[in-house]
Amino acid sequence: MFCPYCSSENSKVIDSRDSADSIRRRRECLSCSLRFTTYETIQTRTLSVVKRDGNREDFDSQKLWISVKNACAKRPLPIGSIDKVISDIESDLAKLSRAEISSRTIGEMVMDSLRKLDRVAYIRFASVYRDFRDIENFKDEVDALLEPKTNDIDNSQLSFLEDELPVKKNKKRGRKPNAPISTIK
Ligand SMILES: [Zn+2]
Repeated sequence: MFCPYCSSENSKVIDSRDSADSIRRRRECLSCSLRFTTYETIQTRTLSVVKRDGNREDFDSQKLWISVKNACAKRPLPIGSIDKVISDIESDLAKLSRAEISSRTIGEMVMDSLRKLDRVAYIRFASVYRDFRDIENFKDEVDALLEPKTNDIDNSQLSFLEDELPVKKNKKRGRKPNAPISTIK
């Protein structure tokens, strides 16, 4: 903080007052003894979201809230679930303390939260948010969610049946050749 009169770096605070959005400080220059006032404000950092097309826009928590709310529409979720998802993501974003983040990363964060919260909401959100190139991966995920491990059980049952079938056929084949022989006698 340089003195506006003599550009000295050294000053002392002689009065300090808080207000809603700033701190007002009255200072006295240690070199020329003139007094001046400074205001300290908190610099709220805006997070830039880098979209798929490379364009940037300010992070909009309201917009995110609406997209999550749409995904959760008519789902039997506890009150406050959506707010919790949004506030968790906001605090995760704050922890990252980055100036910009890809829309993709935010989408993944939402999907992680929704996957734990509600499968239908997760699939709805993912189907809107996911890149079209990922459609095969997405399909695999949906299949896995809708039919958890039932395929494995079906396959093992089928292979069990297949093992039994040839045994029954062999028994029948074994009897049939006897019939013509007895009619010949
Ligand atoms: Zn001065």
